[in-house]
Order: sequence, then structure tokens, then C-alpha cells
Amino acid sequence: MTGWLAVLFSKLVSLGERVVAPLRRGDGPNKFRLSSMDTATTTYDGDTGWARRPPATVECPRCEAEIFQHNARDDLDCSRCVGEYSHESFADLRLLYLTCPVCRSRMEHGQRHPERFDIPEWATCTDCRYHWEFEHSYDTRTD
Ligand SMILES: [Zn+2]
Ligand SMILES: [Zn+2]
Repeated sequence: MTGWLAVLFSKLVSLGERVVAPLRRGDGPNKFRLSSMDTATTTYDGDTGWARRPPATVECPRCEAEIFQHNARDDLDCSRCVGEYSHESFADLRLLYLTCPVCRSRMEHGQRHPERFDIPEWATCTDCRYHWEFEHSYDTRTD
């Protein structure tokens, strides 16, 4: 009986660890972002900086078609009309949504300092918890 209980208990413990682990992963975005800056490694949990911005879809100001911009430094060419826009004019275009680079879901995005920037400053994926920040030094608790 004691042995059987011990086996059951160890199974419960390992099950508990498996359930807790993915939750724990998303608990410390600040800590993670710092370590990702330090090591400059690419992981699934997040990125920082404009160069690592998730792919964006903006609206063509001429014909309102969606223009997909994979990289923040790519120029934007409308596939429907003759519209061509430099990546520097990104802030003037209407951002429709950002795409999660991990699971391809549409991300939620927003700004922390709308008076300073015309661009999204953060984006988060509600599906896989990938998170991107324009800058890494903000304290999210002051939101
Ligand atoms: Zn167009
Ligand atoms: Zn995702």
C-alpha cells in the first residue's frame, strides 16, 4: 500500500511540474528580455528592438489593400496598385496588425509613449505568449 501511494504521489508531482512549467515561462517578461539582450540569442519567448519587430501588415494609402512587411527594414510595395513606400515611412502608414513570428497568429499591439512614437512599442501573442518590445528598459508596472 505504501509503495502504491509513493508511485501515485510521484506521478502527481511530475504531472504538476508539466502543468506549471509553461505558465512559469511567461511570468517574467522583464527578466527574460534582459537576458535575451545580454546573450543576443533567439528564443521563442520574445525579442526586443525595431530590427527584430514582428512582421507587420499595413494599409496601402492609395487603394487600402493590405501590404505585408516581413522585416522592419523592408520597403513596402503594394501588390494591388503602384504604391511603393520606404520602410522609413512606416509610421505614416496605418498599421493593421502584427503577425506572430512563431505561430503566425495576429498579435495584440500598442504603445507606451504615444506622444513620443508613431509606431507600436509592444506586441504580444495571446496564443504562444511570444512578446516583442521596441525598447527593453520600460518598467511594465507603470502602465
Ligand atoms: Zn495599393
Ligand atoms: Zn504566437
